[in-house]
Amino acid sequence: MRKIQCDVAVVGAGPAGLAAAGRAKAAGAGRVLLIDRDRELGGILQQCIHNGFGLHLFGEELTGPEYAHKFIAENQEAGVEVLLNTMVLQVRPDRHLYAMNRREGMLDIAAGAVVLAMGCRERNRGAVTIPGTRPAGVITAGTAQRFVNMEGFMPGRHIVILGSGDIGLIMARRFTWEGAKVEGVFEIMPYTNGLTRNVVQCLHDYDIPLHLNHTVVEIHGRERVEAVTVAKVDEKLQPIPGTERRIPCDTLLLSVGLIPENELSRDARIELDPVTGGPVVSDEMETSLPGIFACGNVVHVHDLVDNVTRESRLAGEGAARLVQGRQPGGPVLATRAGEGVRYVVPHRLHLANLAERETTLYMRVREPAEHVRIEASVGGERVLSVRERVVRPAEMVSVKLPPGSLPADCTGTELTLSVVKEGERA
Ligand SMILES: Cc1cc2nc3c(=O)[nH]c(=O)nc-3n(C[C@H](O)[C@H](O)[C@H](O)COP(=O)(O)OP(=O)(O)OC[C@H]3O[C@@H](n4cnc5c(N)ncnc54)[C@H](O)[C@@H]3O)c2cc1C
Repeated sequence: MRKIQCDVAVVGAGPAGLAAAGRAKAAGAGRVLLIDRDRELGGILQQCIHNGFGLHLFGEELTGPEYAHKFIAENQEAGVEVLLNTMVLQVRPDRHLYAMNRREGMLDIAAGAVVLAMGCRERNRGAVTIPGTRPAGVITAGTAQRFVNMEGFMPGRHIVILGSGDIGLIMARRFTWEGAKVEGVFEIMPYTNGLTRNVVQCLHDYDIPLHLNHTVVEIHGRERVEAVTVAKVDEKLQPIPGTERRIPCDTLLLSVGLIPENELSRDARIELDPVTGGPVVSDEMETSLPGIFACGNVVHVHDLVDNVTRESRLAGEGAARLVQGRQPGGPVLATRAGEGVRYVVPHRLHLANLAERETTLYMRVREPAEHVRIEASVGGERVLSVRERVVRPAEMVSVKLPPGSLPADCTGTELTLSVVKEGERA
């Protein structure tokens, strides 16, 4: 078995892994190794040929591959080493990785620090349990995207989409461009699960109907999908008898959510947050295992790649600091999701970092709301209040804490983020 020694090993070369590896190298880590099971760098970005990437970070609308290329070029120049077509099979708590590829067989990689950047995977039919037969033609939106954009073939001509996640919305437009008929998008919740800009640009602009409070209750067809039955749902999300409607189609596209890919983390006994499905992390993006960091969709599902990059640069910097013995010490403050908030990332903040640098907290709200304030409080004292005109579960909110904005002594307390209606107090 070939043995490799490196300072920082990064698992996954999507935007998260690319940014973490580049930043680790720039921050002075010696040998940085970026590993991916795929045949090329860029992760999910390679199949996202639409534009809309990088608006916040670069002030321009790039396609996924263009966005990835900026980081690939930067990493190449900096001397980040790359291992493609290589699957990481195990991450051990002592920072040994076991990986495998066709050329060399098993690899034993000993790293000073490890960054986990494995992304996420799509929820499939099993996860949403739709009754009916098991014909061909039921696929996830991301798989369809790969077929159309990378492999060059069309999975169907008459499409029904279940779920209003961003990938499904983007594929509704893509199928229309390719001459297919998209019969409609059916969403069980009373609100969409995708970004507003995608609802407008991918559905409204192409007259594709969006049916909220609806679900698919049956799939018909033996060899191939022939039709689906949809129905309205009540407040408990149960189908309402008598509202069923049969829609002929040859493909049912599922866009019903993403799950952080954490088999390696679970196997290493890294503590996971039951709400995000990803590792519990500090503001250095370090997990519960010292020297193992995580960033990107493996931590929590992001809607904008710009935020993935920002967060992953912190992970790269954190890994470099660790191998150079420059990690911040001292007390940490836990974060907590308060009223109206589903989760907050990171979960732990170093007081030393809070005093010195701006800290960004990422959160998602539980329900859509208008004219609210996002309030941060420490030990019952309000430290920050930000006005938001509209908040929606589909759109991640970021809250920036300026350096030195917390009380000098907040050891032993928690920082809570809450959603407060204008005119009320948390
Ligand atoms: C269809 C779609 C459309 C999107 N559109 C936009 C948009 O318009 N604008 C925008 O800003 N954002 C968009 N996003 C969001 C953004 O692309 C993602 O948030 C981002 O790609 C996540 O980056 P990541 O590196 O965490 O994960 P990924 O890009 O998924 O990368 C993970 C990598 O890890 C590798 N990997 C996993 N496990 C292993 C293992 N065991 N061994 C080796 N390698 C492994 C995978 O092969 C993959 O390359 C979109 C996302 C999707 C899915």
